[in-house]
Amino acid sequence: EAITVQELAKRMGERGADLVKSLFKLGMPVTITEAIDQDTAELLVEEFGHRINRVSESDVEIGVGGEQDSPETLRPRPPVVTIMGHVDHGKTSLLDAIRGADVVSGEAGGITQHIGAYQVALPDKSKVTFLDTPGHEAFTEMRARGANVTDIVILVVAADDGLKPQTIEAINHTKAAGVPMIVAINKIDKPGANPQKVREELLQHEIMVEAMGGEVQDVEVSALKKTNLDKLLEAIHLQAELLELKANPDRSAEGTVVEAKLDKGRGPLATVLVQRGTLRVGDIFVVGAISGKVRAMIDDKGRQVKEAGPSVPVEVLGLSGVPSAGDLFTVVENDARAREVAAYRQTVIDRKRTTTAPVNLENIFASKEDKAKVYPLVIKADVQGSAEAIVNAVNRISNEDIKVRVLHSGVGGITESDVTLAGASGAPIIGFNVRPNAKAREIAERNGVELQYYDVIYHLTDAVRAAMAGELGPLM
Ligand code: GDP
Repeated sequence: EAITVQELAKRMGERGADLVKSLFKLGMPVTITEAIDQDTAELLVEEFGHRINRVSESDVEIGVGGEQDSPETLRPRPPVVTIMGHVDHGKTSLLDAIRGADVVSGEAGGITQHIGAYQVALPDKSKVTFLDTPGHEAFTEMRARGANVTDIVILVVAADDGLKPQTIEAINHTKAAGVPMIVAINKIDKPGANPQKVREELLQHEIMVEAMGGEVQDVEVSALKKTNLDKLLEAIHLQAELLELKANPDRSAEGTVVEAKLDKGRGPLATVLVQRGTLRVGDIFVVGAISGKVRAMIDDKGRQVKEAGPSVPVEVLGLSGVPSAGDLFTVVENDARAREVAAYRQTVIDRKRTTTAPVNLENIFASKEDKAKVYPLVIKADVQGSAEAIVNAVNRISNEDIKVRVLHSGVGGITESDVTLAGASGAPIIGFNVRPNAKAREIAERNGVELQYYDVIYHLTDAVRAAMAGELGPLM
């Protein structure tokens, strides 16, 4: 089992040159196009293992092999959309309204089936896939597991309420992921609605919508009255065209689990969002460390289907256990291979449980050159004034070689959401006069996210400055 340095780099989300450099340091002078064996690959993955998502993403895939799709095999695929926003601003209503609108507009037959994602057809017959679990926690949790399934984020803001803490969290999580955003200004039917105020508040978070002369599309909608849903879909369509989303439909399928459960009658079920290739009934697969054979597939309209291509969500029957959301789903050639890959992944999972490389100030950028220019942080403080003072202070530490990037700052204790965000981006969390709750502490420990506490601002900035200087030191 061999893999080229280039392919491994791609799978790890690292630069090939960095891998070559590390290999050189390990006494293995190879070029980027040369193949290395699995042991070496694992070693490298561990070298770069400071980011948990990288480890899972790459380790899990190494067992499978498989090459990059060449450009001429790529075909356009529908965008995958996640809806985010503050509680009660209308995420669920909007998801329901969009789904309902589609049933009216045609797509004959079938009862809507909640399988965790659904597709709607646009007038030009192109499609859009919506993930049914709204919110930035689910989004970042998936990202932390190495699953980047979302192409476009819809940020829902209630026009009568404006930007709220979770709106800001959603903005920051979206920015950290580098996913483009469309703003849906909801509840415009309400008497107190003030869409203009929402646009102005967004400016304070560096989001300039089109109506304000910026690039981010904004659409005024009412999920309740079903106003302008077509405009929102159009905006998604436009954004998707800019992204030129493509995948090779003519290969064995790979995808990500977006939802999984144990059904009393039907056994373990997983909704898989196919990301490349075409999934067919009868295919043998591995998902997480579970193997199986596709017995049947049900689409979001409750219909049995025989195949599902890129960006299509289907509920898969035929699993031997219940996987987790974010698990990679891979079709393999036969049962023996499935067992082999599943066993391999299990050892990776077991090993990871005991030897997770912690993310800390020293090793975050130890082996990454291009990204060494950004130093991510999550900051939580007891009061707004402190949070702002800290953000300003750490931003001033930035110089031309390395820049602080505050992924999120807020007031209050350190939460699960903060930890997932930090984990997904390889950032430490700095608490100023605040501590994590029990759940957050546990997740941080499990995922090797570093927590630091301060009660004096200059101690905090000194530590950050020292860590940043360390990154730029003669490490290589
Ligand atoms: P979520 O927490 O973001 O998923 O919000 P929900 O979709 O559950 O909506 C919260 C509340 O706002 C519900 O009572 C909805 O009926 C109401 N709501 C949602 N969208 C609209 C809208 O466009 N107009 C009005 N007037 N109410 C809405």
